[in-house]
Amino acid sequence: MLTPRGSLGAVELQEGPSRYIVTAMQVARTIADMREARARMAGSVGFVPTMGYLHEGHLALARRARAENDSVVASIFVNPAQFGPDEDYDRYPRDEERDLRLLEDESVDVAFVPSTEEVYRRGYHTWVEVTGPLVNRLEAASRPGHFRGVTTVVAKLFNIVQPHRAYFGEKDAQQLRVIRKLVGDLSLPVEIVPVPTVREEDGLALSSRNVYLSPEDRQAALVLPRALDLARMMVEGWGLRDADLLRESLHDYFRQKPQVQVDYVSVAAPETLDELAVINDSALVMAAVRVGGTRLIDNVTLTPRGEPLEDVEGRVEEMWGRRRPGEAGAAE
Ligand code: AMP
Repeated sequence: MLTPRGSLGAVELQEGPSRYIVTAMQVARTIADMREARARMAGSVGFVPTMGYLHEGHLALARRARAENDSVVASIFVNPAQFGPDEDYDRYPRDEERDLRLLEDESVDVAFVPSTEEVYRRGYHTWVEVTGPLVNRLEAASRPGHFRGVTTVVAKLFNIVQPHRAYFGEKDAQQLRVIRKLVGDLSLPVEIVPVPTVREEDGLALSSRNVYLSPEDRQAALVLPRALDLARMMVEGWGLRDADLLRESLHDYFRQKPQVQVDYVSVAAPETLDELAVINDSALVMAAVRVGGTRLIDNVTLTPRGEPLEDVEGRVEEMWGRRRPGEAGAAE
């Protein structure tokens, strides 16, 4: 049964032709209910898939969907299939009541909140998997099976919700590209809309996992956005083109914080995610680090502009106390 959320504070009054119509967000907990709600939607449908514990990043997706579509569906589903056995599925933060209030405040029409048993019914045995270079590195290397879980649930959610547009955060840069590949390869009739990363005032990208961070770890985690700022300065400000030197500089920068372990630093072509040797047009700089027990990811797209500073490589190497082999003063 579809449940209207009746909390009066968020109920919206819309002026109809001859009377006021009261609309409130509906909560669909089964696939059948979601399909029923979808069948009643006219015009374009925007879809925002989430794992809940919503923050301003998720809400930016919902607002964009609201602005661009006649109806908006958001899903809340902590998808066990995309967590590895040693990952945080059991302790992943959840607060459904608060999430529903936030979605209602953004004038979302339907919240799809299925149980695990509803999505993966007894005897479930089907996977949807992107293969190839896009999914054999970066996040995939640290989280085997992760993208298979993501693409399986997203394909299933697309089938149920049948949106015209689906909204994904640029914060999960590789995921965004994997979803685009899924949609392109399977000719799914949905437009994937990327939404820029929403950050705290001090630069940390919003993430449901930030709640795991102790105050000290929260402070140490700032090294991630600051490393990306540094990358921006080196590439866009100084004109550094040497991608190896950029990667090494970022590793050196992270090394200054002993609480932070680097999973990867990548300087890649934005479309293919192939690692670059030289930054010509633009580069997607991605990093994943662990702070305390928490894994954080972030990225920035950089485009070199203008003429590089004179001997920019030399200056960058000097900054980190490096010398190229063979140069006077080079480390043995
Ligand atoms: P999640 O609930 O973590 O699975 O995220 C759901 C969606 O929100 C994904 O498309 C994420 O990329 C997006 N998202 C998460 N954090 C942010 C953020 N800080 N800014 C923008 N989008 C985000």
